Amino acid sequence: MKYSPVQNFINGKFVNTDSDRKLSVISPLDGNHLSDVPMSTTKDLNAAVQAAKTAFPAWSKTPIKERVQVFFKYKTLLEKHLKELAELCSEENGKTYGESVAEIEKCIELTEFATSLPQLVSGEILEVSKGVECRTEHVPLGVVASIVPFNFPSMVPNWTIPNAIALGNCMIIKPSEKVPLSCARLAILLKEAGLPDGVFNIVNGDSEIVNAICDHPGIEAVSFVGSTKIAKLVYQRATSHFKRALALGGAKNHLMVLPDAKPDMTAQNVAASMSGCAGQRCMAASAMVAVGNVDHIINKICDEAKKIVPGENLGAVINKESQERIERYIDEAEKQGAKILVDGRKTKVKGKEGGTYVGPTVIDYVTPEMSVAKEEIFGPVISIMRTNTVDEALAIENANPYGNAASVFTQNGGMARYIIEKASAGMIGVNVGVPVPREPFSFGGWNESKFGVGDITGKSSIEFWTKLKKSTTKWNPEAGVNWMS
Ligand code: NAD
Repeated sequence: MKYSPVQNFINGKFVNTDSDRKLSVISPLDGNHLSDVPMSTTKDLNAAVQAAKTAFPAWSKTPIKERVQVFFKYKTLLEKHLKELAELCSEENGKTYGESVAEIEKCIELTEFATSLPQLVSGEILEVSKGVECRTEHVPLGVVASIVPFNFPSMVPNWTIPNAIALGNCMIIKPSEKVPLSCARLAILLKEAGLPDGVFNIVNGDSEIVNAICDHPGIEAVSFVGSTKIAKLVYQRATSHFKRALALGGAKNHLMVLPDAKPDMTAQNVAASMSGCAGQRCMAASAMVAVGNVDHIINKICDEAKKIVPGENLGAVINKESQERIERYIDEAEKQGAKILVDGRKTKVKGKEGGTYVGPTVIDYVTPEMSVAKEEIFGPVISIMRTNTVDEALAIENANPYGNAASVFTQNGGMARYIIEKASAGMIGVNVGVPVPREPFSFGGWNESKFGVGDITGKSSIEFWTKLKKSTTKWNPEAGVNWMS
């Protein structure tokens, strides 16, 4: 085992749990046993909630301009430790080193946004009647929880940590049991940046801890990022206890390619979108709708896909189960009559035989009823469907239950605008394969890709992590009286 066993982080210290249930953390790159992660119990969660509750009065009363000083320091620490954080991310998640560097750079951007929160939450004040002022204040909620998935071990935690904490809350995070090492490293950096003990806590575990978070009377709000099946369970369970909840789910993102699209740019974008992070991104292109004759672009997409080499510029998928699931999808599509133009099955990387790799895969002549057309595959696979018109393409996109992202590739501005209006997704790209809105814009999909109101990052997160207090005051009776005062 390369690293010592993962511990919980409660009240500023790494601590053990009494539970003897544990899972192995295996590197998808080569199958190395990295560490063990404990499956904590409700007792551990109770200790974390107690620590967060104790820290809350002082932290929430600290002025926000002081609170964000921690995040200025945290940002410089992320910069200082970028290489080491990226290496750890790559090791536990399987993505390439370059992708991991981009992930840590995104953490830095998310933290930068949090340092701007004092300017964004200054509230409003207005004389609403003679001598009467109304004022709004964003008040922190208390102890909040963040439950995160495996595919971005550092970035998704940083979607919630800087904003929720800078806004005055105390947090408990439940990392993915598949990639718990990065989160532990973030705890050390937050402490080094000066975050008081108890403001940030980590409880490792599986569904038992997730359920306990949803049920715990001391937790005010729950954010979740993961698959749609679990997002629904968490949203239902947390809201059944009248908690505020925001649960982001899975995705099936459609790219619509029109015949006037720029061939090289489109092919490069499609290939990068379907294969980046080995297709394990909720913003990955998973289905492509070819409108009319775009064979010349499909040929170029295949050329681009063939340049993507597992173990070099393509990382591993998270585990063997995932590798087998992805390959099953490809087998099934082939049996149903789809044509495999580029085949990533049975990929082995020399010297890393214990790793779990799937090569880039392009499947053509997919029909909308096939499971590769409908379901989230979460691997470097693109399923191409063919239509004659833009409206048919939109009908396919609209019929899928998810709604994270959609993109169109065209040189026709009017057509692009039409697709922006008609696509049923929260984030739309025009000639952009991965249309992630950058700060201060907020990240969030529609339909079965998100449950709850608002988005998880950017300005929208302010509404989720705070409640609004409205005060109406009058101190000068000489101002006179009208019907409202
Ligand atoms: P997952 O749903 O399996 O796990 C997410 C979290 O839920 C983990 O912390 C896990 O421990 C916990 N969990 C798993 N099973 C549970 C259960 N039965 N009850 C309670 N909790 C449970 O997701 P994953 O495999 O870690 O991540 C991949 C998924 O996340 C994909 O579907 C991807 O699209 C999605 N995702 C979505 C977004 C988004 O912004 N919409 C971002 C990243 C990932």
